[in-house]
Amino acid sequence: MKVGNRLTIYIIIGLIAGIVIGSIFSPMADQAWVQWIDQYIFNVVGQLFLSMIFMMVVPVVFISIVLGVVGVGDPKTLGSLGIKTLSFYLVTTAIAISIAMIVALILQPGVGQSELLDSTEVEDYRSNELDGETGEAIDQTFDQTLINIIPTNIIEAMGTANMLQIIAFAIFIGIAMIAVKDKIPGLIKLFEEANEVVMWIVLAIMKYFAAIGAFGLVATAFTQAGFGAIQQLGMYFVCVLLALLIHLLFVYGSVIKFLAKKPFIWFVKGFAPAMGVAFSTSSSSAVLPISMETAQKNLKVRKSISSFVQPLGATINMDGTAIMQGVATVFIAQLSGIDLTIMQMVTVVVLATVASIGTAGVPGVGLVMLAMVLTAVGLDPAAIGIIIGIDRLLDMTRTAVNITGDAAIASVLNEQQNRKEEKAKTEV
Ligand code: ASP
Repeated sequence: MKVGNRLTIYIIIGLIAGIVIGSIFSPMADQAWVQWIDQYIFNVVGQLFLSMIFMMVVPVVFISIVLGVVGVGDPKTLGSLGIKTLSFYLVTTAIAISIAMIVALILQPGVGQSELLDSTEVEDYRSNELDGETGEAIDQTFDQTLINIIPTNIIEAMGTANMLQIIAFAIFIGIAMIAVKDKIPGLIKLFEEANEVVMWIVLAIMKYFAAIGAFGLVATAFTQAGFGAIQQLGMYFVCVLLALLIHLLFVYGSVIKFLAKKPFIWFVKGFAPAMGVAFSTSSSSAVLPISMETAQKNLKVRKSISSFVQPLGATINMDGTAIMQGVATVFIAQLSGIDLTIMQMVTVVVLATVASIGTAGVPGVGLVMLAMVLTAVGLDPAAIGIIIGIDRLLDMTRTAVNITGDAAIASVLNEQQNRKEEKAKTEV
């Protein structure tokens, strides 16, 4: 079954209806009847869809990575695939954040707006967020992130949908299965059959619930959006969107055309359903079952590559998030009247690239990472309070870009594998 054009159209209709209706409701958001519709219709429909796809993340990731490793068949090939994936991810993220900083340096969204730093939002952020959970998240050091890749308790890893830990465990199981392959034909078959079952559920959720779920999630986000804030932060908003667009069209456009050897339009059309769902959920992790299915069916990425590259990307490759961080850092520096030095800019690029490793793709997590980046370059992390109000809307767009980056790299690695196999065939 293909993730067809009709479904793409339904999802787009759902998104547009959600944006339009949410925007109409937004100015009346304090009226009781609007709150009722928002809470009991938009929110319920949206959250049910979100829970359904979240429900599938752990089984899909675990089963497909095990099968992916078995499919690759050789730990050495797997190692080189891992290194290539990581290198592509790091390079594209570094390019993304550089584009973002250049756009913000040219358009200067924060110049002449220093009064924003005295707003109550900044004080609220300082007193609530920095002492609470966010503060703890910022404290997670890089060495802890590395150590935490190996789970000490796999049930807990699955219970908390800790993506890197699940990936690590699945790789161990996959490698062990390759080692004892001849003794366990039944187990491999069982995984293959389980894969059929979970993928059937993912497709059914997409077919019957994606459009209405996307509608609910987007309608509630736009109803609560607070468009007043966008006006004041208009230039910041425009800079993030512009940098996302440049990255999408030029960086992914070139990657798809020159490295994956495919027409970019074909790629965007094929991957559009997943981008639409990412936009509505603002979570790369939640959308993972759908983005994998869409890449495999519509972009013809082989399972063994998609199931390894995309889950890894959902956690460690967040180009859209990096773009927001680049623009936000320059924006906040401009508000504070500080010119960032080249060294500080390099620090931002390196940190924002590294910070995404080990951070789950869930709504709003980019702001947590941003706090770390700001602190590292000597800016006040409480300034995040200024952009928090409009971040939900930007989160939608950057999440769509995040998962598109993963699919683009998966397409490249798939093409490289195809070429390798063709070459091997012609040599025989
Ligand atoms: N919501 C984003 C994602 O899941 C992360 C972020 O930028 O906050 O990919």
